[in-house]
Amino acid sequence: MDQQQIAANLAAVRERMAAAARRAGRSPTAVTLIAVTKTHAPELIERALAAGVRDCGENRVQEADAKIVQLRNKPVRWHLIGHLQTNKAKRAVQLFDMVHSLDSVRLAETLDRRVEAAALPAKPRLPVLLQVNVSGEPSKEGFDVPGGVDNGAARDAFVAQVEQVVALPHLHVQGLMTIAPYVDEPEAARPVFAMLRTLRDVLARRFPQASWEHLSMGMTNDYEVAIEEGATLVRIGRAIFGERLT
Ligand SMILES: *Cc1c(COP(=O)(O)O)cnc(C)c1O
Repeated sequence: MDQQQIAANLAAVRERMAAAARRAGRSPTAVTLIAVTKTHAPELIERALAAGVRDCGENRVQEADAKIVQLRNKPVRWHLIGHLQTNKAKRAVQLFDMVHSLDSVRLAETLDRRVEAAALPAKPRLPVLLQVNVSGEPSKEGFDVPGGVDNGAARDAFVAQVEQVVALPHLHVQGLMTIAPYVDEPEAARPVFAMLRTLRDVLARRFPQASWEHLSMGMTNDYEVAIEEGATLVRIGRAIFGERLT
């Protein structure tokens, strides 16, 4: 895809993001676009950067590594949005500015140790989001809280896990992330996004020592609904770069 097409796609996405924010009485500046660059080559990513993208999302450490190294002099914040294996945690800490896909206490503890060992002056604490599966769809990764706050037993179990994560000194919990089930009709994802927001609000009251400012939710199919429901970070690939080839 050429520079002009990417710039046009980005402009269209940004316009729709702003309109969705205004519909919900929110400022368009309250929502950050993360361009999801998985499967795409550094040359293509550079075109998006030239068109004003400053945040990029990758879902696999190994795939991201070479791209991030190649683009290291560019002003990009890199977001890890896919499942992280503990044996990749060390490299992930070096490469990424935020991890959206923290999905177990065990991974949190490993990351915490890796951040401490890395001792990066710019990153004394790693910003993380807790990935939550509120939809109950079995294939989704994340902490399982099917039904959100209304599911008392699952909610209490999750709160106990969050208590362990927020106590880790080298992680900075900043909010929640979810992936809505794929549906043709974006409206169908609205209850999932609303559940994530409500869950976030409960956690913010319970654990005021963390920040809880972020809701990472919304992809190409459903980002406008997600913004109406409070998304602060949207993760968009296909609407910018077209269909992925792999
Ligand atoms: C691939 C991916 C996206 C982007 O999906 P699009 O449909 O291309 O917008 C967002 N979030 C996660 C976690 C992904 O893996």
